[in-house]
Amino acid sequence: MNTGELRSKVKGAVMVPGDVAYDDARQVWNAMIDRRPALIVRCADAADVAPAIAFARQNDLDISVRGGGHHIAGHSICEGGLVIDFSGMKSVRVDAATRRAYVQPGATLRDFDHAVQAHRLATPVGINSTTGIAGLTLGGGFGWLTREYGMTIDNLLAVDMIGAEGKMLHASEKQNPDLFWAIRGGGGNFGVVTQFEFKLHPVGPNVFAGLIVFPFEQANEVLTRYREFVESAPAKLNVWALLRQAPPLPFLPVGAHGKEVVVLAVFYNGDANEGEKFIQPLRRFGNAIGEHVGSIPYTQWQQAFDPLLTPGARNYWKSHNFIQISDAALNKIIEYAAKLPSPHCEIFLGLLAGEANQVAASATAYSARDAKFVINVHGRWERASQDEECIAWARAFFHAAAPYASSGAYVNFMTADEGERVAAAYGANYTRLQEIKRLYDPENFFHVNQNIRSSEKKGAA
Ligand SMILES: Cc1cc2nc3c(=O)[nH]c(=O)nc-3n(C[C@H](O)[C@H](O)[C@H](O)COP(=O)(O)OP(=O)(O)OC[C@H]3O[C@@H](n4cnc5c(N)ncnc54)[C@H](O)[C@@H]3O)c2cc1C
Repeated sequence: MNTGELRSKVKGAVMVPGDVAYDDARQVWNAMIDRRPALIVRCADAADVAPAIAFARQNDLDISVRGGGHHIAGHSICEGGLVIDFSGMKSVRVDAATRRAYVQPGATLRDFDHAVQAHRLATPVGINSTTGIAGLTLGGGFGWLTREYGMTIDNLLAVDMIGAEGKMLHASEKQNPDLFWAIRGGGGNFGVVTQFEFKLHPVGPNVFAGLIVFPFEQANEVLTRYREFVESAPAKLNVWALLRQAPPLPFLPVGAHGKEVVVLAVFYNGDANEGEKFIQPLRRFGNAIGEHVGSIPYTQWQQAFDPLLTPGARNYWKSHNFIQISDAALNKIIEYAAKLPSPHCEIFLGLLAGEANQVAASATAYSARDAKFVINVHGRWERASQDEECIAWARAFFHAAAPYASSGAYVNFMTADEGERVAAAYGANYTRLQEIKRLYDPENFFHVNQNIRSSEKKGAA
């Protein structure tokens, strides 16, 4: 394999095994992933993508695409193939007058929030600032603003892409609308996105947000009242519930550190006095052992969970969608949260109910528009010797909770061993996705991902 011609055609770096930067460049967020690509093309601009695709084709190499490198399955790094790495392309250009952001595919949520908040604008993205905007958006995307403004894809206006033959494509409601439909949830199956255009909304600079922490013994009471409360909560208010061991947060009594707790993470996009009024009932859900809620810059709240989710740990996730959390489901959540196999494991209930549910299931490839909650069992630990125990715990909870879950699944939370779940994740939209895959990538060139198979015959991941 002669990389000389490729190097002459791209502006960015081409890294191969043995190069100083190679080992760092193949690391992703989940330390369970340890793959050795044949080469990594760190693109300097969109023009670097087509030569990389051509090189992979000429040398019969698998191709993978790296945005922020956060996906739990680690599909951004392929074994023995070519990685298109966008970590050098992080620019976010904001047009404040039209409330638009033009975003390169290596930008993290932190890059995005930083740029848009300079204009007191934002759009719904995830809750951990080191996540990449690219993978998050292509799988759907949800976070604190989702109840008010929908999924990330509901705020996506257009993309520039390079297709499987190296051709430039623009997709929006007007241009290539079938492709635009497919990439809003269909992941990296249809091409390589080189720019995203989002619409923005007035947010911040401060929001009203924080944590209220209850003892684990009160989990049933707290969660029962939580699920009633969110039924009538305003869309500007979002509350997620977390069950985990308490980190050593300064506002918690030292005796609670390391003990199982139930945390309500609250977020209100608006005035602090109003927010205070809305969250007041939450305090009566139990005898809180600590609280830290107040006015906080939106960008700071977007980074609040980063210390719990740093890269470099071993992770295994399982998740389900729920239309409602039944008593039986609550019991399972509490039962499994009572036997966390490592201090970093958690079960969280992410609340979607609101604007995301107002969109028809057939309007975008992401189809779980009836999901009001996403429950993720987050297995996270430090040593390989703990793999078996932590993975078994996550799988056991997943199976125990399955009878109470609704249909569909979130592809952005699916591990590498859940390839067979992809079709079910898209429900009735899967057939249309297969048709569009046949049009834009009939050979399944882009298959190192949550793969949509246009037919059963060709090498799916
Ligand atoms: C700690 C943590 C917190 C998270 N929190 C949330 C959350 O709050 N809300 C939420 O919705 N999700 C959340 N996620 C899930 C997140 O949305 C996915 O992990 C997402 O894939 C991350 O995007 P990335 O660009 O960092 O990932 P990568 O691993 O770089 O990319 C994932 C996949 O996306 C595709 N892809 C990436 N870039 C491109 C591109 N330019 N063109 C074509 N295809 C591309 C590829 O198939 C790639 O394999 C979280 C994940 C983590 C690890």
